[in-house]
Amino acid sequence: MGEVLVYVDHVDGAVRKPTLELLTLARRIGEPVAVHLGPGADAAAPVLAEHGATRVLAADAPEFADYLVVPKVDALEAAAKLVSPTAVLIPSSGEGKEIAARLALRLGSGIITDAVDVEAGEEGPVATQSVFAAAFTTKSRVTKGAAVITVKPNSAPVEVAPAAGAVEELAVEFGPLATGTKVVSRTPRESTGRPELTEAAIVVSGGRGVNGAENFSVIEALADSLGAAVGASRAAVDAGWYPHTNQVGQTGKQVSPQLYIANGISGAIQHRAGMQTSKTIVAVNKDAEAPIFDLVDYGVVGDLFQVVPQLTEEIKAR
Ligand code: FAD
Repeated sequence: MGEVLVYVDHVDGAVRKPTLELLTLARRIGEPVAVHLGPGADAAAPVLAEHGATRVLAADAPEFADYLVVPKVDALEAAAKLVSPTAVLIPSSGEGKEIAARLALRLGSGIITDAVDVEAGEEGPVATQSVFAAAFTTKSRVTKGAAVITVKPNSAPVEVAPAAGAVEELAVEFGPLATGTKVVSRTPRESTGRPELTEAAIVVSGGRGVNGAENFSVIEALADSLGAAVGASRAAVDAGWYPHTNQVGQTGKQVSPQLYIANGISGAIQHRAGMQTSKTIVAVNKDAEAPIFDLVDYGVVGDLFQVVPQLTEEIKAR
């Protein structure tokens, strides 16, 4: 098995969880080589090594922060030329997917986006995707070049698997397009203290049944008792009860947590499209015929204003 490049998503060297998940998948299909761009490689390297990175290729330059994706594509292309990987794994964020598409074009490779699993196959890595609003599961293999694959957060466990992970400097020559789109400003979102929706292990969502912005405190209390992120259906977002950044679904975010708890959500196909790959699904709905009950692992038929506070108290008591 050859080497597998893993693009490191980090904030100044603090490695984000989806990258550690990618290292787990990379170890299944080859030897993980992490590519760390921007400041903080020395801080990130021990964490990457602890989770299986055999090497850490690092490059730092102002271009990575000052311009959108192309400098990172230049660097990944340089890493691919150096390593000749069998695959390149990239987190399935908006930025990750743009990097992956541009990189695949540069390498003349096939690409698979939004994979929920990657495993070794006789003729190369095989990626699993959940498609058509999660109505089908497909397995695909790239037949041309290094397989460029983006993987959704929470698709694999984080595993400790110590490896050498020595930092090596990656020489990058930026091409003419690198400075094509400049970042004008960066404003961090006000922190709620909750995990990022797409990366959270648990998501607690509310829908039209929550019946008002002020009632979302019931959903937030359950989320906080579990250390979860808060999601919302489009009906709740369109009503102005919760921000669009928290919308789950076809026109919102796609989540794949270990546990998804839907409260007062009917289970429309467009909502399912964003959460159906969750590992365990729980719903609280007062209508026993609600379509959400077709896909749950555990369902509670009841009024969320009675069920959810009881659940919160029970969890807090443990
Ligand atoms: P409803 O369908 O109105 O369901 C509310 C549920 O709450 C009902 O099942 C009811 O029984 C239950 N309920 C009411 N009161 C209580 C209570 N006190 N206790 C317990 N249960 C209660 N939707 C998304 O969510 N995400 C998307 O990204 C998205 N994208 C879309 C894109 C397109 C192009 C289109 C056409 C639609 C999209 N939608 C999306 C909208 C989608 O079709 C549904 O309209 C929406 O998901 C419904 O939200 P809901 O389940 O909260 O509301």
